[in-house]
Amino acid sequence: MLDMNWIKENTETLRNTATQKKVVFPLDELLAWEDKRRSLLQETEQLRAKRNVLTKEVEQRLREGDRPAGEAAKEHVREINSALTGLEAGLAEAEQRCSELMLLAPNPVSLDTPVGRDDSDNVELRRVGTPPEFDFTPRDHVELGEMHDILDIPRGVKAGGPRSYVLKGAGLYLHLAVQRLALDVLTERGFTVMDVPVIVRPETLQRTGFFPGGMDQTYELNGENRWLAGTSEVSLVSLYSDEIVDLDNPLRLAGMSACFRREVGSAGRDVRGLYRVHQFSKIEQVILCRKDEGVSESLLQEITANAEYILELLELPYRVVAVCTGDMALKTHKQYDIETWMPSRGAYGETHSASNLLDFQARRSGIRYRDYDGRLQYCHTLNNTAVATPRILIPLLENHQQEDGSIYIPQALRKYMDGQTKLNL
Ligand code: AMP
Repeated sequence: MLDMNWIKENTETLRNTATQKKVVFPLDELLAWEDKRRSLLQETEQLRAKRNVLTKEVEQRLREGDRPAGEAAKEHVREINSALTGLEAGLAEAEQRCSELMLLAPNPVSLDTPVGRDDSDNVELRRVGTPPEFDFTPRDHVELGEMHDILDIPRGVKAGGPRSYVLKGAGLYLHLAVQRLALDVLTERGFTVMDVPVIVRPETLQRTGFFPGGMDQTYELNGENRWLAGTSEVSLVSLYSDEIVDLDNPLRLAGMSACFRREVGSAGRDVRGLYRVHQFSKIEQVILCRKDEGVSESLLQEITANAEYILELLELPYRVVAVCTGDMALKTHKQYDIETWMPSRGAYGETHSASNLLDFQARRSGIRYRDYDGRLQYCHTLNNTAVATPRILIPLLENHQQEDGSIYIPQALRKYMDGQTKLNL
């Protein structure tokens, strides 16, 4: 959410942002309701003040024994009360509409965000590592998974419907190993690791900027007024809602959770294998810091570097792209995606997504800190994937496959895999 005064002073920026982000934001309607809210508030306050004066007059007249004047003033108070009833109802409606419309305001993007329509306009910043050149016909992760008996998609679909999977044996241990590795890296880098709720209240999703826009992508628990979060970012940020937090040092949090996505609108896309599923696991980085764009920008670099370090430990080639306006969510100010080389696609595929949201989430969630001069300020929030699995198993299995069908296990994962150096057939 943005500040109303800022909105009024930056209408053109906001109109452009909405167009560039392809979101519907009824700015004129908001401004009209805001005008109405202000004038109703003014009228209400004036009438309340008048009523206070008259109430005192009633008391004074009656004390002085001037009954007719006292009764006349009383009658006037009654008239004001009935006018106030109407005004207060109108004011409540205007306040409600303003709050609803404010939720639709997009966060403006950083000056260095590329303008573009969709992910094809994202701008590559760097490539790290070299995609392998196989001197044999490489297999894709589904074939490799079946050969090693570590992946069973048909039985996953039988139990869970389309976009489901079963990881078994060494497949499950690899899935756990990448998460353990990410948790250990983040712990070493000063993050507090946590297991947080994934069943969350609708307000939690609204206050972190996922609702109302993302409602159709989220599973609702029938009759419970609870929803299944698509990322632990939702809970991690909300842990501090309506609190005044000590941010002398940035708060570095890491969540481990299952993530649930309806993937509405993805029909027919990425239907083979583990790329796009309804349920997956993710270790997520979240940072809360002071409202200082220099600080949050450097923390965006930090959480991106953390993810890159994990990919280096996994010995995977990847690239970093600056995400363009048309590929960005309502809440995002600046975003980098990391895409890892996936041989079966002959392309880099998204595996991580790092965002700086400035104070957008903190305003909606009421997360504040005391500035050096004692003033309360809304903080900045950032997030990035550390590892999301099973998607990361695609590059892991495919890049590390050997001609004999075995799969090389990177050094950094071996301690979580009982010292195994390879998955043998
Ligand atoms: P996001 O929270 O949408 O930025 O996604 C973060 C990461 O989660 C992505 O980069 C993917 O690695 C993973 N991810 C997102 N959606 C899916 C999905 N439907 N299936 C598998 N992995 C996903």
